[in-house]
Amino acid sequence: ANSLLSGLPTTIFSVISALAVKHDAINLGQGFPDTEGPADMVDAAADALRDGRNQYPPLAGLPELRAAVARSNSRFYGIAVDPAREVVVTCGATEAITASLMALVNRGDEVVVFEPLYDTYMPVLDMLGAVVRKVRLTPPHWDLPRAELAAAFGPRTKAILLNTPMNPTGKVFTRDELEFIAGLVARHDAYAVCDEVYEHLTFGAIAHLPLMTLPGMRERTIRIGSAGKSFSMTGWKVGYVTAPAPLADLVMKAHQLLTFTVAPNLQRAVAMGLDKDTAYFHQLAEGMRGARDRLSDGLSRAGLSVLPSDGSYFLIADIAPLGFAGDDVAFCQQMIRHVGVAAIPVSAFYDSRGTDIPARYVRFAFCKKAEVIAGAVKRLQSVR
Ligand code: PMP
Ligand code: GLN
Repeated sequence: ANSLLSGLPTTIFSVISALAVKHDAINLGQGFPDTEGPADMVDAAADALRDGRNQYPPLAGLPELRAAVARSNSRFYGIAVDPAREVVVTCGATEAITASLMALVNRGDEVVVFEPLYDTYMPVLDMLGAVVRKVRLTPPHWDLPRAELAAAFGPRTKAILLNTPMNPTGKVFTRDELEFIAGLVARHDAYAVCDEVYEHLTFGAIAHLPLMTLPGMRERTIRIGSAGKSFSMTGWKVGYVTAPAPLADLVMKAHQLLTFTVAPNLQRAVAMGLDKDTAYFHQLAEGMRGARDRLSDGLSRAGLSVLPSDGSYFLIADIAPLGFAGDDVAFCQQMIRHVGVAAIPVSAFYDSRGTDIPARYVRFAFCKKAEVIAGAVKRLQSVR
């Protein structure tokens, strides 16, 4: 059948993972940890199943999880949240993003996004009939082109979709950048959808700052988190939305259409996880920082030019200095086949209808065990 989805390719993450399996490559492509999340959360989920938590939970999520999301907002960012009216639990951040855009966007509304962008943003905006205003961050430091961003806002702007800490760049937006964005959102009476799935994965002195905490943004922002990322269990697909009540209400209506509810045992376990002491979240980030350093050092030793990453599961390498005759897609294919290491071409994070898409960047995931990273580095070094 010919439909809006006919032209949508299979996600690059599945394509690369399948290729990695076929060629027995070490998979530093799709971002998922290769260690289990907290055992007490697994136990809590298993116990909840046996306790008979197996029927439809409430539409907006289990009250205990919504209360935990509210407490987490307060503890980490000083955001006061009414759990009964301002939190919606979704099937991962993926659903939260779609539901939030459904909540806000009417056909013809303009939505501002940054490129590179996560792969679900563009197709969902297309399906909603949004007019997408893309603003490219400037490599290698993924700087904000402020004049261009200001020019992308106008009288028809409905929202900006912002991802920080950012996939695939590892950029963490600074307070100054966020203040600039907040100024534009307020001036144009727009909204912000903030994909903050890597909120607890920033490194060293770098801290995540939710746009929602800036003056004037509390009533205009939908903030999205993911238990998959905060607890290293990406298969669980439990996400949470924090938004002012009128927006949360609309997100809940979208959720009602999309999936209706989320597995109650997992919700219960995530509620427990969100209440973990601050040391847990600190160790999560510290462990990931170590992995970033290991991969960054190893790739540098293997001759790649590594760009800085301040957060997320990812870093980007610039392949141009290698003198490879081909683009990032060809590079990744050859690396899987001939070196046995899988990574993601960054061009996949650009709207394919665009022109002058950068073709010299490759994304590596470092959310992997030390020995896995060492193995990948060894393979890469052997081809120097
Ligand atoms: N947004 C970004 C930026 C991501 O990297 C991911 C996951 N990889 C998601 C959303 C989706 O998160 P979830 O698995 O909770 O649906
Ligand atoms: N978000 C993960 C990544 O960027 C993958 C999610 C997916 O496979 N859809 O690698």
